[in-house]
Amino acid sequence: MSQISIPSRAPGEIPHDDTVVPFEVAALDVRGRTVRLGPMVDEILSRHAYPTAVSRLLGEAIVLTVLLGSSLKFEGRFILQTQTDGPVRMLVVDWRSPGKVRAYAQFDADAVAALTGTTDGDLLGRGHLAMTIDQGADMNRYQGLVALGGGTLEEAAHEYFLRSEQIPTRVRLAVAEEFSAAAGGGGAQRRWRAGGLMLQFLPKSQERQRVADLHPGDAPEGTAPHVVPEDDAWVEGQALVATVEDVELLDPALSTERLLFRLFHEHGVRVFRAVDVEAQCSCSHARVETILKSFPAADRAAMVENGRIGVTCEFCNTRYEFDPASVVGPEDAEG
Ligand SMILES: [Zn+2]
Repeated sequence: MSQISIPSRAPGEIPHDDTVVPFEVAALDVRGRTVRLGPMVDEILSRHAYPTAVSRLLGEAIVLTVLLGSSLKFEGRFILQTQTDGPVRMLVVDWRSPGKVRAYAQFDADAVAALTGTTDGDLLGRGHLAMTIDQGADMNRYQGLVALGGGTLEEAAHEYFLRSEQIPTRVRLAVAEEFSAAAGGGGAQRRWRAGGLMLQFLPKSQERQRVADLHPGDAPEGTAPHVVPEDDAWVEGQALVATVEDVELLDPALSTERLLFRLFHEHGVRVFRAVDVEAQCSCSHARVETILKSFPAADRAAMVENGRIGVTCEFCNTRYEFDPASVVGPEDAEG
Protein backbone atom coordinates (compact mmCIF):
# COMPACT_ATOMS: atom_id res chain seq x y z
CA MET A 1 0.00 0.00 0.00
CA SER A 2 1.51 3.31 -0.95
CA GLN A 3 1.43 5.97 1.68
CA ILE A 4 2.20 9.61 2.07
CA SER A 5 2.85 11.58 5.20
CA ILE A 6 0.74 14.68 5.53
CA PRO A 7 2.66 16.59 8.23
CA SER A 8 5.75 16.75 6.04
CA ARG A 9 3.96 18.70 3.33
CA ALA A 10 0.82 20.65 2.67
CA PRO A 11 -2.29 18.47 2.46
CA GLY A 12 -3.80 17.83 -0.97
CA GLU A 13 -5.99 20.71 -1.99
CA ILE A 14 -8.04 19.09 -4.71
CA PRO A 15 -11.17 17.39 -3.39
CA HIS A 16 -12.03 14.08 -5.06
CA ASP A 17 -15.59 12.80 -4.95
CA ASP A 18 -16.61 9.14 -4.87
CA THR A 19 -13.53 7.97 -3.00
CA VAL A 20 -12.62 6.22 0.22
CA VAL A 21 -9.39 7.30 1.90
CA PRO A 22 -7.89 5.04 4.59
CA PHE A 23 -5.69 6.71 7.20
CA GLU A 24 -3.73 5.99 10.35
CA VAL A 25 -2.81 8.07 13.38
CA ALA A 26 -0.06 5.95 14.91
CA ALA A 27 0.41 8.18 17.98
CA LEU A 28 -3.20 7.45 19.01
CA ASP A 29 -3.22 3.79 17.87
CA VAL A 30 -6.20 4.54 15.66
CA ARG A 31 -6.95 3.70 12.06
CA GLY A 32 -9.87 4.82 10.00
CA ARG A 33 -11.30 5.78 6.65
CA THR A 34 -13.17 8.70 5.23
CA VAL A 35 -15.76 8.57 2.46
CA ARG A 36 -16.97 11.41 0.28
CA LEU A 37 -19.68 10.71 -2.26
CA GLY A 38 -20.95 13.01 -4.99
CA PRO A 39 -22.18 11.75 -8.39
CA MET A 40 -22.26 8.14 -7.15
CA VAL A 41 -24.77 8.69 -4.34
CA ASP A 42 -26.72 11.20 -6.45
CA GLU A 43 -27.14 8.62 -9.21
CA ILE A 44 -28.47 5.95 -6.85
CA LEU A 45 -30.85 8.26 -4.97
CA SER A 46 -32.04 10.19 -8.05
CA ARG A 47 -32.93 7.00 -9.93
CA HIS A 48 -35.29 5.99 -7.15
CA ALA A 49 -36.68 9.46 -6.41
CA TYR A 50 -37.88 8.39 -2.97
CA PRO A 51 -39.31 10.92 -0.49
CA THR A 52 -36.49 13.13 0.86
CA ALA A 53 -36.39 11.52 4.31
CA VAL A 54 -36.13 8.03 2.78
CA SER A 55 -33.37 9.17 0.40
CA ARG A 56 -31.40 10.67 3.28
CA LEU A 57 -31.71 7.48 5.34
CA LEU A 58 -30.70 5.27 2.41
CA GLY A 59 -27.79 7.66 1.77
CA GLU A 60 -26.58 7.08 5.34
CA ALA A 61 -26.81 3.32 4.82
CA ILE A 62 -24.79 3.71 1.60
CA VAL A 63 -22.03 5.64 3.40
CA LEU A 64 -21.91 3.03 6.18
CA THR A 65 -21.75 0.22 3.61
CA VAL A 66 -18.90 1.93 1.74
CA LEU A 67 -16.99 2.43 5.02
CA LEU A 68 -17.34 -1.26 5.88
CA GLY A 69 -17.21 -2.85 2.42
CA SER A 70 -14.05 -1.01 1.44
CA SER A 71 -12.25 -2.61 4.39
CA LEU A 72 -12.71 -6.15 2.99
CA LYS A 73 -9.34 -7.73 2.32
CA PHE A 74 -10.62 -10.01 -0.44
CA GLU A 75 -12.82 -10.05 -3.53
CA GLY A 76 -16.41 -10.39 -2.47
CA ARG A 77 -19.66 -8.75 -1.48
CA PHE A 78 -20.79 -6.90 1.60
CA ILE A 79 -24.53 -6.53 2.08
CA LEU A 80 -26.14 -4.24 4.63
CA GLN A 81 -29.83 -4.84 5.25
CA THR A 82 -32.32 -3.47 7.75
CA GLN A 83 -35.65 -5.10 8.55
CA THR A 84 -37.85 -3.08 10.85
CA ASP A 85 -41.48 -2.34 11.77
CA GLY A 86 -41.37 1.41 10.98
CA PRO A 87 -42.43 3.34 7.84
CA VAL A 88 -39.16 2.27 6.10
CA ARG A 89 -39.42 -1.49 6.48
CA MET A 90 -36.28 -2.41 4.57
CA LEU A 91 -33.01 -0.90 3.35
CA VAL A 92 -30.63 -2.93 1.21
CA VAL A 93 -27.16 -1.78 0.17
CA ASP A 94 -24.96 -4.12 -1.82
CA TRP A 95 -21.19 -3.58 -2.17
CA ARG A 96 -19.15 -5.57 -4.70
CA SER A 97 -15.39 -5.26 -4.62
CA PRO A 98 -13.53 -3.29 -5.72
CA GLY A 99 -16.13 -0.53 -5.32
CA LYS A 100 -19.49 -1.05 -7.04
CA VAL A 101 -22.55 -0.09 -5.04
CA ARG A 102 -26.31 -0.43 -5.51
CA ALA A 103 -29.14 0.17 -3.04
CA TYR A 104 -32.89 0.38 -2.55
CA ALA A 105 -35.49 0.97 0.14
CA GLN A 106 -38.95 -0.47 0.77
CA PHE A 107 -41.34 1.80 2.63
CA ASP A 108 -44.94 2.74 3.23
CA ALA A 109 -45.38 6.07 1.42
CA ASP A 110 -48.42 7.11 3.46
CA ALA A 111 -46.68 6.34 6.74
CA VAL A 112 -43.57 8.28 5.65
CA ALA A 113 -45.72 11.27 4.62
CA ALA A 114 -47.53 11.19 7.97
CA LEU A 115 -44.31 11.30 10.00
CA THR A 116 -43.69 14.38 12.11
CA GLY A 117 -40.06 13.53 12.91
CA THR A 118 -37.44 12.34 10.44
CA THR A 119 -34.77 10.82 12.67
CA ASP A 120 -33.41 7.40 11.74
CA GLY A 121 -35.46 5.95 14.61
CA ASP A 122 -38.71 7.57 13.41
CA LEU A 123 -38.22 6.13 9.93
CA LEU A 124 -36.94 2.67 10.83
CA GLY A 125 -38.78 1.76 14.00
CA ARG A 126 -37.64 -1.45 15.62
CA GLY A 127 -36.05 -4.53 14.17
CA HIS A 128 -32.53 -5.45 13.18
CA LEU A 129 -29.59 -4.53 11.01
CA ALA A 130 -27.78 -7.39 9.29
CA MET A 131 -24.29 -7.20 7.78
CA THR A 132 -23.41 -10.08 5.47
CA ILE A 133 -19.97 -10.79 4.06
CA ASP A 134 -19.98 -13.11 1.06
CA GLN A 135 -16.65 -14.30 -0.30
CA GLY A 136 -18.09 -16.29 -3.19
CA ALA A 137 -19.66 -19.65 -3.95
CA ASP A 138 -17.13 -21.89 -2.18
CA MET A 139 -16.71 -19.78 0.92
CA ASN A 140 -18.78 -19.39 4.06
CA ARG A 141 -21.03 -16.43 4.42
CA TYR A 142 -20.60 -14.46 7.61
CA GLN A 143 -23.51 -12.55 9.07
CA GLY A 144 -23.52 -10.13 11.99
CA LEU A 145 -26.79 -8.91 13.47
CA VAL A 146 -27.51 -5.94 15.68
CA ALA A 147 -30.83 -4.75 17.10
CA LEU A 148 -32.35 -1.48 15.90
CA GLY A 149 -34.40 0.04 18.67
CA GLY A 150 -35.22 3.59 17.68
CA GLY A 151 -31.65 4.91 17.57
CA THR A 152 -29.50 6.06 14.66
CA LEU A 153 -27.59 3.97 12.13
CA GLU A 154 -24.39 5.44 13.63
CA GLU A 155 -25.33 4.02 17.04
CA ALA A 156 -26.19 0.66 15.50
CA ALA A 157 -22.76 0.58 13.83
CA HIS A 158 -21.04 1.27 17.18
CA GLU A 159 -23.00 -1.56 18.76
CA TYR A 160 -22.15 -3.91 15.89
CA PHE A 161 -18.42 -3.32 16.21
CA LEU A 162 -18.44 -3.65 20.01
CA ARG A 163 -20.37 -6.93 20.00
CA SER A 164 -19.34 -8.64 16.77
CA GLU A 165 -15.76 -7.52 16.39
CA GLN A 166 -14.97 -6.13 19.87
CA ILE A 167 -13.23 -3.15 18.30
CA PRO A 168 -13.98 0.26 19.82
CA THR A 169 -15.30 2.21 16.82
CA ARG A 170 -16.79 5.60 16.12
CA VAL A 171 -18.68 6.34 12.92
CA ARG A 172 -20.00 9.61 11.50
CA LEU A 173 -22.46 9.65 8.59
CA ALA A 174 -23.79 12.73 6.78
CA VAL A 175 -26.16 13.14 3.81
CA ALA A 176 -27.62 16.30 2.31
CA GLU A 177 -29.14 17.71 -0.81
CA GLU A 178 -27.06 20.42 -2.44
CA PHE A 179 -28.92 23.18 -4.24
CA SER A 180 -27.29 25.18 -6.99
CA ALA A 181 -28.47 27.43 -9.77
CA ALA A 182 -28.95 25.38 -12.94
CA ALA A 183 -27.01 26.34 -16.04
CA GLY A 184 -29.16 28.51 -18.29
CA GLY A 185 -31.26 29.78 -15.40
CA GLY A 186 -33.70 26.85 -15.38
CA GLY A 187 -34.30 26.94 -11.64
CA ALA A 188 -32.43 25.26 -8.83
CA GLN A 189 -30.62 22.00 -9.42
CA ARG A 190 -30.63 19.46 -6.63
CA ARG A 191 -27.88 16.97 -6.08
CA TRP A 192 -27.31 14.49 -3.28
CA ARG A 193 -24.00 14.42 -1.46
CA ALA A 194 -22.86 12.17 1.35
CA GLY A 195 -19.82 11.68 3.50
CA GLY A 196 -18.60 9.72 6.45
CA LEU A 197 -15.73 8.91 8.73
CA MET A 198 -14.89 5.80 10.73
CA LEU A 199 -12.28 5.63 13.49
CA GLN A 200 -11.17 2.41 15.21
CA PHE A 201 -8.96 1.91 18.26
CA LEU A 202 -6.45 -0.83 17.45
CA PRO A 203 -3.68 -0.74 20.06
CA LYS A 204 -0.80 -3.15 19.65
CA SER A 205 -0.55 -4.02 23.35
CA GLN A 206 -3.03 -6.59 24.70
CA GLU A 207 -3.51 -4.70 27.97
CA ARG A 208 -4.82 -1.62 26.20
CA GLN A 209 -7.25 -3.70 24.13
CA ARG A 210 -9.31 -4.69 27.16
CA VAL A 211 -12.91 -3.59 27.07
CA ALA A 212 -15.33 -3.68 29.98
CA ASP A 213 -17.64 -6.68 30.25
CA LEU A 214 -20.89 -5.79 28.58
CA HIS A 215 -23.07 -6.57 31.58
CA PRO A 216 -22.37 -7.97 35.07
CA GLY A 217 -25.08 -10.57 34.41
CA ASP A 218 -26.49 -12.19 37.55
CA ALA A 219 -23.62 -11.26 39.84
CA PRO A 220 -24.62 -11.08 43.54
CA GLU A 221 -26.18 -7.81 44.59
CA GLY A 222 -23.61 -5.27 45.67
CA THR A 223 -20.88 -6.59 43.36
CA ALA A 224 -19.02 -3.67 41.86
CA PRO A 225 -19.44 -3.61 38.06
CA HIS A 226 -16.36 -4.49 36.06
CA VAL A 227 -15.01 -1.16 34.86
CA VAL A 228 -11.97 -0.74 32.65
CA PRO A 229 -10.89 2.89 32.39
CA GLU A 230 -10.88 4.03 28.78
CA ASP A 231 -7.50 4.47 27.20
CA ASP A 232 -6.48 8.14 27.00
CA ALA A 233 -5.62 7.85 23.31
CA TRP A 234 -9.07 6.45 22.50
CA VAL A 235 -10.78 9.08 24.66
CA GLU A 236 -9.03 11.71 22.55
CA GLY A 237 -9.82 9.90 19.27
CA GLN A 238 -13.51 9.81 20.12
CA ALA A 239 -13.47 13.45 21.19
CA LEU A 240 -11.95 14.46 17.84
CA VAL A 241 -14.53 12.46 15.86
CA ALA A 242 -17.29 14.12 17.91
CA THR A 243 -16.11 17.52 16.66
CA VAL A 244 -16.63 16.59 12.98
CA GLU A 245 -19.60 18.49 11.63
CA ASP A 246 -21.85 17.27 8.83
CA VAL A 247 -20.81 20.19 6.64
CA GLU A 248 -17.16 19.10 6.87
CA LEU A 249 -18.09 15.66 5.56
CA LEU A 250 -20.23 17.13 2.78
CA ASP A 251 -18.39 20.27 1.66
CA PRO A 252 -17.43 19.74 -1.99
CA ALA A 253 -14.57 22.24 -1.58
CA LEU A 254 -12.94 20.59 1.46
CA SER A 255 -10.50 17.84 0.51
CA THR A 256 -10.32 14.68 2.61
CA GLU A 257 -6.66 15.31 3.34
CA ARG A 258 -7.41 18.79 4.63
CA LEU A 259 -10.20 17.47 6.85
CA LEU A 260 -7.88 14.81 8.32
CA PHE A 261 -5.16 17.39 8.80
CA ARG A 262 -7.63 19.61 10.66
CA LEU A 263 -8.53 16.74 12.99
CA PHE A 264 -5.23 15.03 13.62
CA HIS A 265 -2.38 17.41 12.74
CA GLU A 266 -1.09 17.45 16.33
CA HIS A 267 -0.43 13.71 16.20
CA GLY A 268 0.58 13.18 12.59
CA VAL A 269 -1.72 11.34 10.20
CA ARG A 270 -0.72 9.01 7.39
CA VAL A 271 -3.03 8.72 4.42
CA PHE A 272 -3.15 5.62 2.23
CA ARG A 273 -4.11 5.19 -1.41
CA ALA A 274 -7.73 6.13 -2.13
CA VAL A 275 -10.26 3.58 -3.41
CA ASP A 276 -12.76 4.74 -6.03
CA VAL A 277 -16.42 3.84 -5.73
CA GLU A 278 -19.18 3.96 -8.34
CA ALA A 279 -22.91 3.31 -8.68
CA GLN A 280 -23.33 0.15 -10.69
CA CYS A 281 -26.00 -2.50 -10.65
CA SER A 282 -25.32 -6.10 -11.70
CA CYS A 283 -28.64 -6.64 -13.48
CA SER A 284 -28.92 -7.18 -17.25
CA HIS A 285 -31.51 -8.32 -19.80
CA ALA A 286 -29.82 -11.73 -19.95
CA ARG A 287 -29.74 -12.18 -16.17
CA VAL A 288 -33.39 -11.25 -15.73
CA GLU A 289 -34.29 -13.63 -18.58
CA THR A 290 -32.41 -16.47 -16.87
CA ILE A 291 -34.34 -15.84 -13.65
CA LEU A 292 -37.66 -15.76 -15.54
CA LYS A 293 -36.81 -19.06 -17.24
CA SER A 294 -36.25 -20.68 -13.85
CA PHE A 295 -39.83 -19.86 -12.80
CA PRO A 296 -42.66 -22.40 -13.34
CA ALA A 297 -44.52 -21.65 -16.59
CA ALA A 298 -47.71 -20.83 -14.66
CA ASP A 299 -45.91 -18.14 -12.65
CA ARG A 300 -44.57 -16.59 -15.84
CA ALA A 301 -48.01 -16.70 -17.42
CA ALA A 302 -49.37 -14.78 -14.43
CA MET A 303 -46.83 -12.02 -15.07
CA VAL A 304 -48.03 -11.27 -18.62
CA GLU A 305 -49.61 -7.85 -18.98
CA ASN A 306 -50.73 -6.48 -22.33
CA GLY A 307 -48.92 -9.33 -24.04
CA ARG A 308 -45.57 -8.60 -22.40
CA ILE A 309 -43.66 -9.61 -19.29
CA GLY A 310 -42.18 -6.54 -17.61
CA VAL A 311 -39.64 -6.71 -14.80
CA THR A 312 -38.22 -3.70 -12.96
CA CYS A 313 -34.92 -4.09 -11.10
CA GLU A 314 -35.48 -3.03 -7.49
CA PHE A 315 -31.89 -1.90 -7.10
CA CYS A 316 -31.56 0.46 -10.08
CA ASN A 317 -35.13 0.92 -11.32
CA THR A 318 -34.24 -0.31 -14.84
CA ARG A 319 -37.23 -1.88 -16.62
CA TYR A 320 -36.79 -4.98 -18.79
CA GLU A 321 -39.49 -6.23 -21.17
CA PHE A 322 -39.88 -9.69 -22.68
CA ASP A 323 -42.05 -11.38 -25.26
CA PRO A 324 -43.63 -14.29 -23.31
CA ALA A 325 -43.15 -16.62 -26.29
CA SER A 326 -39.38 -16.06 -26.23
CA VAL A 327 -39.01 -16.86 -22.51
CA VAL A 328 -39.28 -20.63 -22.26
CA GLY A 329 -37.89 -22.62 -19.34
CA PRO A 330 -36.30 -26.10 -19.55
CA GLU A 331 -39.29 -27.81 -17.90
CA ASP A 332 -41.70 -26.46 -20.56
CA ALA A 333 -39.96 -28.50 -23.27
CA GLU A 334 -40.51 -31.75 -21.34
CA GLY A 335 -44.28 -31.15 -21.09
ZN1 LIG B 1 -30.45 -3.24 -11.62
